[in-house]
Amino acid sequence: MIDYIVVGFGLAGLAFVEELKKNDKLFVVYENYSQKSSRVAGGLYNPVILKRFTAAWLASEQLELALPFYKNIQDKLGEALVSELPVLRRFNNIEEQNLWFEACDKPVLETFLSSDLIRNENEALDIPFQYGSVKGTGKIDIKKMLSLYVLDLKKKELLINESLEYDELVTETDFIEYKGLRAKNIVFAEGFGVRSNPFFNYLPLQGNKGEYIIIKCKGLQLKEAVKSSIFIIPLGDDLYKVGATYNNQDKTPNITESAREQLQMKLERFLKIDYEVVDQVAGIRPTIRDRRPLIGTHPEYKSMHIINGLGSRGILIGPYVANKLYNFIENNGSLEKEIDIKRFENLR
Ligand SMILES: Cc1cc2nc3c(=O)[nH]c(=O)nc-3n(C[C@H](O)[C@H](O)[C@H](O)COP(=O)(O)OP(=O)(O)OC[C@H]3O[C@@H](n4cnc5c(N)ncnc54)[C@H](O)[C@@H]3O)c2cc1C
Repeated sequence: MIDYIVVGFGLAGLAFVEELKKNDKLFVVYENYSQKSSRVAGGLYNPVILKRFTAAWLASEQLELALPFYKNIQDKLGEALVSELPVLRRFNNIEEQNLWFEACDKPVLETFLSSDLIRNENEALDIPFQYGSVKGTGKIDIKKMLSLYVLDLKKKELLINESLEYDELVTETDFIEYKGLRAKNIVFAEGFGVRSNPFFNYLPLQGNKGEYIIIKCKGLQLKEAVKSSIFIIPLGDDLYKVGATYNNQDKTPNITESAREQLQMKLERFLKIDYEVVDQVAGIRPTIRDRRPLIGTHPEYKSMHIINGLGSRGILIGPYVANKLYNFIENNGSLEKEIDIKRFENLR
């Protein structure tokens, strides 16, 4: 009997697997590549919500945990994955500058927002009201991290490239059995894919589709991520990720022309030079209406657990909630009400 089956290997699955490795648990992962949220994400970690100038949920605690977490993975995988990357917020008008100054004095935000305005010196960009700069930001190459990690798991025969077929799961009192394999626990980390999971699809996961275009722009020479109504994120070799869109109607996985047009229109409001769109990607963020993760144990089947609802901030939230879930299952730890799936028990 092994300790865990983990279903799904995006940011949530990875964070939980790290807990299992740290605690010498025996596990196997199932991954079918049906969801792409983690693999297409911008990869930014940023403790501040730049639309409203507020601190993200538990920003300081999560950042403190997440940075060493990803740096440790980087060291183990032996490739550059984590880089510090300044994020500059483009102000649209004087009112926004004033709101920024007000935010700079607020608790938590004062550690992350710089009150020195930054003048734009890049002639390719139209920045009439200067920038505000955020501290403690950076970028993770999530796609590379996940694929290197998958290679390592495959080498150790710990990853199976198959869909977990829910109707093949047999639930016993103290364990589950799947196609002859017994495990003490199963953890579902399926992102938006949980909507097909008959054990947990009562949970109100909404999903929000996001698309990026990737542009090539020789003259831009940007070293920082710039946030206006969209982000421009430098990737190296004159390539930039531009986006993302937010769409809670379309739940299809494919890229769309309307998203590309929307992103180009927003980009051209402040990028003044020619560029070429070289690629486009799409994924569905696992979002919940109360903007909190979905963590916990199935109300009926005590060997079944879930880690989901990482929304639009999976990099920072993942390690934090994986640690909470692990301690909840193994060490009688407590789960805060706001993340516990118990809050949706009335929906069953
Ligand atoms: C366009 C976009 C930009 C984003 N930018 C950022 C950003 O800059 N910073 C940030 O922190 N967050 C960002 N996010 C959010 C972040 O990507 C998500 O919070 C995160 O990806 C959620 O991870 P997850 O592991 O829960 O889901 P997923 O990444 O969707 O992973 C779930 C995995 O489970 C697998 N799976 C599902 N069902 C099964 C099954 N039955 N059997 C086997 N495998 C299965 C899927 O194939 C998938 O690999 C962005 C998201 C999008 C879409």
